[in-house]
Amino acid sequence: MSRFLLIGAPGAGKGTQAERLAQAFSIPAISTGDIFRYNVKNETELGKLAKSFMDRGEYVPDSVTNDLVRDRLSQEDAQPGFLLDGYPRTADQVKELDDILAAAGSKLDAVVLLTADTDEVVRRLLNRAQEQGRADDTEEVIRRRLEVYEEQTAPLIDIYAARDIVITIDGLGEVAEVTGRILDALAARGIKPLS
Ligand code: AMP
Repeated sequence: MSRFLLIGAPGAGKGTQAERLAQAFSIPAISTGDIFRYNVKNETELGKLAKSFMDRGEYVPDSVTNDLVRDRLSQEDAQPGFLLDGYPRTADQVKELDDILAAAGSKLDAVVLLTADTDEVVRRLLNRAQEQGRADDTEEVIRRRLEVYEEQTAPLIDIYAARDIVITIDGLGEVAEVTGRILDALAARGIKPLS
């Protein structure tokens, strides 16, 4: 049973690491950003609503995001464990996740905090903008996303630190090297993939 989440500034490498870790643990990587982008692409009602916030670098309202995650975590594949990427991002979302897990009689095993300095993060995001053409990777929106992260999401680290479940990982370096650091740190806490 592995239930954990990745937290860190936009551009810290959460998405890349989430995929690799989910594979190592054979659990789904659940990215709220990816779910929103999928809905934007398919022009669903949820997508239309999410787009109006995402394009400005603002967070999609908690009520919408919480319902989406509650539904996703109730699905069969998430029962053995899951890796959340980009959720929770607000104090209200932390509470919602606590409620969802408490109702299921489970709890989070670890919160992996990926760190990267601001210059590096902006450089990565501008690079990704060129490669993937994401609508929210323009310099102005990137700046707003970093501000929103500092205001609303960075404070969540203290909430989880008080529970002694935060593992801080240097997100700079080769992708495989960073994955190795995370796996080692999780293993040191007794969290290992079933082999
Ligand atoms: P990401 O791919 O995780 O950087 O997310 C891209 C965008 O989706 C964010 O800038 C938000 O607009 C929206 N988003 C993703 N996850 C959340 C969340 N947990 N709460 C609110 N908005 C979110």
